[in-house]
Amino acid sequence: MTIYWERCSICRKHKPVRQCTLWQDDMVCAECCLLCSHRGSCPAPAWFGEFRTAVPVSERRREEARKALEDLLKRLESGST
Ligand SMILES: [Zn+2]
Repeated sequence: MTIYWERCSICRKHKPVRQCTLWQDDMVCAECCLLCSHRGSCPAPAWFGEFRTAVPVSERRREEARKALEDLLKRLESGST
């Protein structure tokens, strides 16, 4: 990912910026990206988005999904007898 030293589209300060994922015309600095109210629904935040999808989180999600599936299978098994 390329980092540009340009003007942030949000705070208008000259800082290292990255292209915003949600608004492709905007360039955001790290602070504005972190403080963005849309960050929760952003698929891949330009700044530190990689931490959101870090291994522990996806591992936990996968574990939750596996447990839910096992639970469902168990319920189906007990239901069929
Ligand atoms: Zn900014």
